[in-house]
Amino acid sequence: MSIDRREFLRTSAAAAAGLSLTSVAAPGTAEGAAVGEPAPLKASLARPVVIASDNGLRGVAKAYEMIGKGSDPLDAIVAGVNIQELDPEDQSVGLGGLPNEEGVVQLDASCMHGPTRRAGAVASLEGIATPSLVAKAVMDYTDHILLVGPGAKKFALNMGFKEQNLLTEKSRQDWLRWKARLNANDNWLDHDDDIKIKFSTGTINMNAVTATGDVASVTTTSGLAWKLPGRVGDSPIVGAGQYCDNSVGAAGSTGRGEANIKVCGAFLAVEFMRQGMAPEQALMKVMERVIAMTEKRLLNDRGRPYFDLHFYALAKDGRYSSATAYQGGQFAVASDKGARLEDSVYLFKSEERPARR
Ligand code: ASP
Repeated sequence: MSIDRREFLRTSAAAAAGLSLTSVAAPGTAEGAAVGEPAPLKASLARPVVIASDNGLRGVAKAYEMIGKGSDPLDAIVAGVNIQELDPEDQSVGLGGLPNEEGVVQLDASCMHGPTRRAGAVASLEGIATPSLVAKAVMDYTDHILLVGPGAKKFALNMGFKEQNLLTEKSRQDWLRWKARLNANDNWLDHDDDIKIKFSTGTINMNAVTATGDVASVTTTSGLAWKLPGRVGDSPIVGAGQYCDNSVGAAGSTGRGEANIKVCGAFLAVEFMRQGMAPEQALMKVMERVIAMTEKRLLNDRGRPYFDLHFYALAKDGRYSSATAYQGGQFAVASDKGARLEDSVYLFKSEERPARR
């Protein structure tokens, strides 16, 4: 990436957001691109490519392998995210996901299939470990796009999904500790231990492009830990948590869903790419928009958000990027160079991140 281009991103982001930005990290993509034009496709970035949030390293490897064997891109990435959904150690999705404030695990997911222009989603789904597969079943077997709550569960059971207790012992203990520390004057005794209470966000988003340029996207999550029962984040919202258009590419998000829903981040990223922006530039512009749309109570006096969001974008030609508000993010990539983690671009250096309020 040329210094000029990096400087452009710094200054254009700052100008548009009215902020004085500190830095933009070197991305893994778009080397030598002229600003505002699609970057040339590097031979090393030849399709297929699969990208995901950083918890998707095993998933991108699996999806890439499946695509290499001729699998449909959506089947491949759903199989990729199923690894995390079924892993009780991943407390951000599926089995073992952190519960809502009443100790109930409620899951959200959505997916989109570029070649057929179809989408499916479920929200506040209880008792089924693989909401991505239920979202895909909504897409495949109904004339609807989004099913929620008991209706989504009934549909899943009718489709043959098996109900199970998703609250693992570890997540139940974390929930109890959170509850005990909520209010010093309630009837729950506070623990004296130094176990860190998780105020977790976490999700898996995965996007793929095949050798022939077909794209797909999927996002699945247990949402914000300790959320109000029935709270739905960005993950099951087509256009926010994920989006794809077979003529352009795919995008998705993890992090504070409330901030993403307001900008329809995945849709916006795809639209910016449609206008000719490289994935990295599209995502930086989405991030600017997030900050511009953030209410005052969530910004410190220097205009820095108290939260973070992570966006991922994959162009139809195989270019890709990921962006965060704060330095330090990584994302998973699988391509002809293998499966690895790469650094995300960012708006602000990590030391600028305000302490949690
Ligand atoms: N985006 C998810 C939500 O808001 C949570 C996350 O990614 O951490 O539900």
